[in-house]
This record gives sequence, structure tokens and C-alpha cells, in this order.
Amino acid sequence: MTAPLSTESPPIAFLDLPAQQARLGDAIRRRVDTVLAHCRFVMGPEVGELEQALAAYAGAKECVGVSSGTDAIQIVMMAEGIGRGDAVFLPAFTYTATAEVPLLLGATPVFVDVDPRTFQIDPASLGTRIAQVRAAGRLRPRAIIGVDLFGQPAPWPALRAIAERERLFLMDDCAQSFGGALSGRKLGREAVATTLSFFPSKPLGAYGDGGAILTDDPERAELYRSLRTHGEGKTRYEVLRTGMNGRLDTLQAAVLLAKLDAFEEELARREAIARAYDRGLEGCVVTPMRVADSRSAWAVYAVLTEDETARTALQERLKAHGVPSAIYYPRPLHRQPAYQAQHDGTSLPVAEDLSCRILALPIHPELTDAEVARVIAAVRG
Ligand SMILES: *Cc1c(COP(=O)(O)O)cnc(C)c1O
Repeated sequence: MTAPLSTESPPIAFLDLPAQQARLGDAIRRRVDTVLAHCRFVMGPEVGELEQALAAYAGAKECVGVSSGTDAIQIVMMAEGIGRGDAVFLPAFTYTATAEVPLLLGATPVFVDVDPRTFQIDPASLGTRIAQVRAAGRLRPRAIIGVDLFGQPAPWPALRAIAERERLFLMDDCAQSFGGALSGRKLGREAVATTLSFFPSKPLGAYGDGGAILTDDPERAELYRSLRTHGEGKTRYEVLRTGMNGRLDTLQAAVLLAKLDAFEEELARREAIARAYDRGLEGCVVTPMRVADSRSAWAVYAVLTEDETARTALQERLKAHGVPSAIYYPRPLHRQPAYQAQHDGTSLPVAEDLSCRILALPIHPELTDAEVARVIAAVRG
């Protein structure tokens, strides 16, 4: 594939919501108009319809629509009573929301290193970190949050074995990877509870904030429903527990129902773009390694450069050619000011190294073949 490298070409978008609306706008407007007609803006019928559709898609028994991916994690943690004195193990290489919730609830996030090639949480490091916390005796190990990073699944069989052996609650932060699969099974059933985000840039994105929790446990699902509406009981004015306002907005559910119809096609397009990048960039940068026997939702296509200097040079060259790129994540969480005080000082060398060398290229269903060729040519320089 060759393409002229010209600064005359219009810049490529990292996320192209206007183009998405040109493709799906009519279907979305029909759904939104229905809501504008019935006016049930809070917990309207679209919320239940979406919950059923998402549960069916993932093969999960229950789905609870909530206000965001972050609130989904919070509701799951609150349902387990996680708080002061509890250690929650999670990867150091993830979005801040994963770590923010345990901290907000008074628990302590314990950061775990990741795999240098798949970027997913490293089970060996997890085992070491749990042993360290037990030996220190200051915190009570309570939960593991596995994160399906960038669209690919975390190593779930290994995480389940550790959770069982150590008697820890296991949760899947699947904010980036809904639509992905492991061993032929869609993500959503790998842990006791799975949280989703519908932030606009996620593979299944709404037009505002939104999230959901998947589980096969009906009792937990009932608890999640209570917690998302102020801890209410059978009637609105029976308050059983401390909850929150964590409901999914009806308008967002309507947008998502329209977008869910096109989701499989979009995932196929993302996969085709990823394969074109793999072929076009081989030998030039380190292309992402696939988790064995999995399907990626391709939230992020991240390459690795030799070092930080090479990454800066690559990012500048891309910019000159109108090709956007992004760094997920420029700093591992244990090195962030917000979490440094929580961290025990253990070095997590893989997460630290990745944050200096990783670079995400545009990958969204609206990218044309010509744009993909332009990205490849610009990376190859
Ligand atoms: C986006 C994201 C979240 C938070 O989702 P919001 O809907 O933005 O609150 C949580 N965890 C991970 C890994 C994410 O990427």
C-alpha cells in the first residue's frame, strides 16, 4: 500500500463522531424521537430493552444499566462492602477510573504489573503482590479487578484460579472491550461481575455517559439495581442501604439500541483495519500481540517504539502528515500524584517501560482504506 504523504490531505480523525452520525444518524434519531414523544427520561422503557439486548449479546443472565463505567465499578464494589482496610488488586497500566473507585470507598488500590506484549495484567505479578500484602499484614486482600485492556481479554483462567485460591472477589472492568471474546465466548461472564462503559470513544459508545453491569447472579443484580437508585427497596421510599444516583439515562439507552444494531459490522471493520496495520507496519514498529484464542474489540491499536525519543519523533512525524495519535498511558497509575501516597514503592518495570514507548494509532469504523494506507505510510516515514 502506498499513499502520497502530503500535508495537503485533510487531517484524519482519531474518533469521527460526525461521520458516525452520517452512517447511523437516521436510526439514532428515530430512537431518540420515540423518547421525546413518551417523555420517560429517567428509567424509561429503552433502559430495560437495552439491558435485555446487552445480556443476550454477551450471554449473561442479568444486565443493569448505570450512569457510567466508573459508577458501574463503584456499585459492584459497594455491593461487596469493600472499604477501609481492604486491598483491591488491579493493573498499574489502565485508566484511572479502575483505581479511583476503591480509593473513593476507603479501600487501597494495590498496583500489579502487566505483560510486556499483550499489556494485560500479569498473573505472576498478581500472585507476588497478594503475597506481599498478606506478609505486610496491614491490609485485608479482598478483590481483584481484571481489566480487559484495549479491546483484548485479560488472562481470565489464571485470574479465576488465583481469586479462588486466595478467596478474593473477582471483577471484570470491561469498559474498553465489550464485543471482545475469549475461547469463543463473548466477554461478560469471565468474573462474578463485569462492568461496561459507553463513553463515546469506547467501541460501543453512547452520545454521553453511560455504563452497565453484567452478572449471572440474580441476587447481586438485585443489589446493583437497589444501589443505582439510592439503595431503595421494594418501594421508592423504602431505603435499605446507602446507594447512589447511578441510573442509565433513557436517551443514552435509545442511542445505544440504535448503535447495537451496527455493532458487529463495526467490530469487523475494526478487525480489518487492525490486520491492515499489522501487515503494513511489520518490521517498522512492534505491532500489538493478540491474546491467544481471543477476539479483540479494538478499542485501541497500540504500537511500541524503541524508546521515548523514537516515540516523540514518530508522534511528530504523524502530526505533520495529519495523522493523530494518542498515548495510553503516559504514566502508570502507581506513578500518578493521586496514587503515589497509596503505593508501597514496589517497582512495576513493565508498566513503567510501556508508558514511555506506547503509541495508539487511529482505529474506528469510519476510517477509509485510503486513510489506513496514509497512516501506514506516515508511520513508515
Ligand atoms: C473508560 C474506562 C472506565 C470508565 O468509564 P466511564 O464510562 O468513562 O466512567 C473504567 N475503566 C476503564 C479501563 C476505562 O477505559
